[in-house]
Amino acid sequence: MATPQAVQLANRARELAWDGNFPIDPHEIAAGITIVRGSGEDEQRLSITMEGEPLDQLSGYAEFIEAPEPGYRCAYNTDEALVRQRFTQAHELGHVLLKHVSKDHTRLRDTTFNDRGDWREIDANAFAAELIMPAEYVRHQASKIPHISELARFFGVSPTAIRYRLINLGLL
Ligand SMILES: [Zn+2]
Repeated sequence: MATPQAVQLANRARELAWDGNFPIDPHEIAAGITIVRGSGEDEQRLSITMEGEPLDQLSGYAEFIEAPEPGYRCAYNTDEALVRQRFTQAHELGHVLLKHVSKDHTRLRDTTFNDRGDWREIDANAFAAELIMPAEYVRHQASKIPHISELARFFGVSPTAIRYRLINLGLL
């Protein structure tokens, strides 16, 4: 079951930084968000960098970086299928916005997205699903497009991902 807070945060991120086009590009959302930490003289404005690279055995990771300036970094494996890369980008962005990574927490690495009961993974998956397959739009598109493969193409995800989403939303 998707946690309400993660879903809310994904909606908020889209409101802030999405241009309205499908498929939704997590790069654009990350680039459009600045995280403000602290206040007054201690205020820090942190940006989120998203980068693709070949990552052996890893789908992606999220981390806090000190250089070239303090901020967050999401990496995703460019050796994987494009639909998988999009989901990874959204998932890692979720880890950052859900505050799963910080100066004191080292890099969070993802090999699979099986949650294994880890609440951080459950929340990051819920965030990712809502970010790139928003419930409102999935409902609307599913009423017009009956084919899983076409729906998957519209949202830029795998047929498995959209099928899972439809089931979770009670549409299949
Ligand atoms: Zn994860």
